[in-house]
Amino acid sequence: ESARVEYARELVAGASRIVAMTGAGISTDSGIPDFRGPNGVWTRDPAAEKLSNIHDYTASREVRERSWQARLDHPGWSARPNAAHAALVELERADKLNAVVTQNIDRLHHKAGSSPERVIELHGTMFETACLGCGDRGDMREALARVRAGETDPPCTECGGILKSATISFGQALDVDVLDRARSAVLSCDLLLAAGSSLTVHPAAGLVGTAAHAGATVIVCNASETPYDDVAASVLRGPLGEVLPALVPDRHGE
Ligand code: NAD
Repeated sequence: ESARVEYARELVAGASRIVAMTGAGISTDSGIPDFRGPNGVWTRDPAAEKLSNIHDYTASREVRERSWQARLDHPGWSARPNAAHAALVELERADKLNAVVTQNIDRLHHKAGSSPERVIELHGTMFETACLGCGDRGDMREALARVRAGETDPPCTECGGILKSATISFGQALDVDVLDRARSAVLSCDLLLAAGSSLTVHPAAGLVGTAAHAGATVIVCNASETPYDDVAASVLRGPLGEVLPALVPDRHGE
C-alpha cells in the first residue's frame, strides 16, 4: 500500500468534522456513466449535452420528449450503491462525517445508508419532478407512467406548465436554501474530501475553494486532474471503490 494512501488515512483519522463532496465518478462503479470520463455520456454523444441545458429544454418540445425518454432509460433506476458510497457511511457511523454534499441525482448515498439529513443534493434528484411554471413538486415515477401511457411531454397537472425532473440543468439556478446548507457545512468542516468530480461545474466546485480558504484540509480523490489539486494536502488517483474504503481508519484498527 502506498505511502500516499497511508498519509491520507492519517489525515482522515485526525479529522472529526469531514464533509465529502461527491460527483459522478463515485457512481460509475454502480453502472451510471459520468459526463466527462472516457465512457462519459457527453464523450459518447455530444448532442446529449443539449438535454442538460434549460434554454433548449424550455424552447423545444423535441428536446423535452428526448429528455423524458432518456429519463425512462436512466441506469439510476436499478443502480445499487458501491464500496465508495459504503465507505462514506462508515465514516458517518464512526462520528467523523458531518455531511455529504453531492452533485449526483441518483440517491445512491441514501441507498447506501447515509442519513438523509446529512446528504445535501446540490443538483437535485431524478426521483422527483418540478414544474417550471408553478414550482409544484411531484413523484418522477408518476410522470414516467404518463410518458409510458403515451404523453410524450407531460404537462404539470396543477397549472399545465412545463414539467421537468427536479434536477439542475445548465443555465438553471441552484436552490438557494440547498446551496446555503452546503456552504455552512463546508465552512465548519475540518477536512473536505472531494471524490469523483472533475470539479469544473460551479458553484459546486467552488465549495472546495471555500473550504480550503476557511482552513480545512483538502483531499482530492479523482482519476483525472482537477483545478483544486494544488490546494489539496493529498491527491489520490486510484479507483474510488478501492481508495475510499482504504481511508476509513476503523478498518485498520486505528
Ligand atoms: P464529471 O463527469 O465532470 O467528472 C467525474 C470525474 O470522476 C472524472 O474526472 C473522472 O475521471 C472521475 N472518475 C470516474 N470514475 C471514477 C472512479 N471509479 N474512480 C475515480 N475517479 C473516477 O462529473 P461531475 O464532476 O460530477 O460534474 C458533472 C455534472 O454531472 C454534475 O453536475 C452532476 O450533477 C452530473 N452527473 C450526475 C450523475 C449521477 O447522478 N450519477 C451522472 C452524470 C453526471
